[in-house]
Amino acid sequence: MIPFNKPPVVGTELEYMKQAMESGKLCGDGNFTKKCEKWLEEQFHCHKTLLTPSCTASLEMAAILLDIKPGDEVIMPSFTFVSTSNAFVLRGATIVFVDIRPDTMNIDETKIEAAITNKTRAIVPVHYAGVACEMDTIMAIAKRHNLFVIEDAAQGVMSTYKGKALGTIGHIGCYSFHETKNYSSGGEGGATLINDPELINRAEVIREKGTNRSQFFRGQVDKYTWRDIGSSYLMSDLQAAYLWAQLEEAEKINERRLAFWQIYYDALTPLAEKGLLALPIVPEGLEHNAHMFYIKLKDIEQRTAFNDYMKEHGVLTVFHYVSLHTSPAGMKFGRFDGEDIFTTQESERLVRLPMFYNMTEEEQQTVIGHIRDFFA
Ligand SMILES: *Cc1c(COP(=O)(O)O)cnc(C)c1O
Repeated sequence: MIPFNKPPVVGTELEYMKQAMESGKLCGDGNFTKKCEKWLEEQFHCHKTLLTPSCTASLEMAAILLDIKPGDEVIMPSFTFVSTSNAFVLRGATIVFVDIRPDTMNIDETKIEAAITNKTRAIVPVHYAGVACEMDTIMAIAKRHNLFVIEDAAQGVMSTYKGKALGTIGHIGCYSFHETKNYSSGGEGGATLINDPELINRAEVIREKGTNRSQFFRGQVDKYTWRDIGSSYLMSDLQAAYLWAQLEEAEKINERRLAFWQIYYDALTPLAEKGLLALPIVPEGLEHNAHMFYIKLKDIEQRTAFNDYMKEHGVLTVFHYVSLHTSPAGMKFGRFDGEDIFTTQESERLVRLPMFYNMTEEEQQTVIGHIRDFFA
């Protein structure tokens, strides 16, 4: 069976984890955490990066940091992972879903302004497949209406929008190092990117259980106390050691993924030209990170037939998000503003092909062969 995903492994993970164990300090903010945070800050030109247990935790931290309260409204696409919504629902907010663009599957920036009310506090663009949302427009809307922008860049590590790294454009950015993402910290993990310098101090307090322990460790205060609400949003240094191995090879991982992406794209172009399937679209001015390769089929019936066929032939292809606004919790905690023209329709057509760092070229050719046979 060719799996849909395998966690990325570069080979140096164990050595670094051993070093972390021998250092005698495995809790958060250890040596490897500091190395990873510095690397992320320098690589992506970010004011402050804080490693967290997951992108989910980063989104929750962001919602606390922005003081999201009951009655507030937060705008986001419905075609996203539950954590994008949950983080704000946990603070009592109402989610306002707007439609996506059919080309990128990202939030339709032209529909955001109509969804803004006097209760709106934030916009959460999700960079699907590591392809950027139209950030200039989104940031301009946020500025006009005095709103915060939190980028869900879980899938966007190493992607850019007009030369800027995803996650560094909004007030806060959230990365995932889950094993299904391009870079992993050993299964679970994430990072919060604080791009508004005024938010840095409080972000550190919230992440350290509501205390100013980070300042204490830097020798800025002589004891630490409970200052604010907070939780434990630190990553173990053992996980940071695993992540460090992958960040050192980030360029290599990125290039290999992009090569796989291009091979799929080129091989499937003839089928797209015959109108049998649709290929992903990457708008001008964006560099993506080949987080995933998806195709779109005619409808949900054809997609089910395709997935069944591929599975019979030993290949796992998988669909993705079921629109949140159609889910029981989505109906309870949110509403869809405007008309769902593309969200449901396009999500039902989309199917993801196996693509992971340690995939072999033979495996990829096998997948391509079975796709050709399905349409023949
Ligand atoms: C993976 C993902 C998340 C959650 O990431 P975790 O690190 O697993 O918490 C959130 N949003 C999007 C868009 C994702 O793809």
